[in-house]
Amino acid sequence: MSIIDRALEANRAYAKTYDPTLGRRPAPKIAVVTCMDPRLSDLSGILGLPQADIDVIRTGGPAVTDDVLAELIVSNRVLGTTEILLLNHTGCGFTTFTDDELNAKLTAATGDPSPAPMRFFSYTDPEQHTREQIERVRSHPWIADDVPVRGCVFDVETGLLREVLPLVAHPAA
Ligand SMILES: [Zn+2]
Repeated sequence: MSIIDRALEANRAYAKTYDPTLGRRPAPKIAVVTCMDPRLSDLSGILGLPQADIDVIRTGGPAVTDDVLAELIVSNRVLGTTEILLLNHTGCGFTTFTDDELNAKLTAATGDPSPAPMRFFSYTDPEQHTREQIERVRSHPWIADDVPVRGCVFDVETGLLREVLPLVAHPAA
């Protein structure tokens, strides 16, 4: 039985005790951009916040792409979140290859170079990555100035968050 088949079966049991009030319109308070890595999945535990308060945007890395910026703007301006946390982590898989290497590897493995060069948003240093993300989000004109944009690195060995401060004060746009 595949994982999805087992999950569909388990869902029928889940639905029997499901609280329908959870289906009301969400009112998250904070937007968190984090990595697809399963070690970042317990955000409620890591951040000590109710699950319902956290609007989660996940990509590999994470990468703050144009799509992620659009989601952050919806999160702030439509759903009403009032803070943004960019949550990176140690030991990220996206630091274990470069985009060029992965493009070459997949081209060789599949024999089809047509998707290359594909952007995988690999990076090297989680702190530097966080600083660049803060800059990218902070400088977007549709992210309101009164919305704090902060970044942290989650240490997968200790469970501790370390805040990353921008190197320089944000210049006026
Ligand atoms: Zn990661």
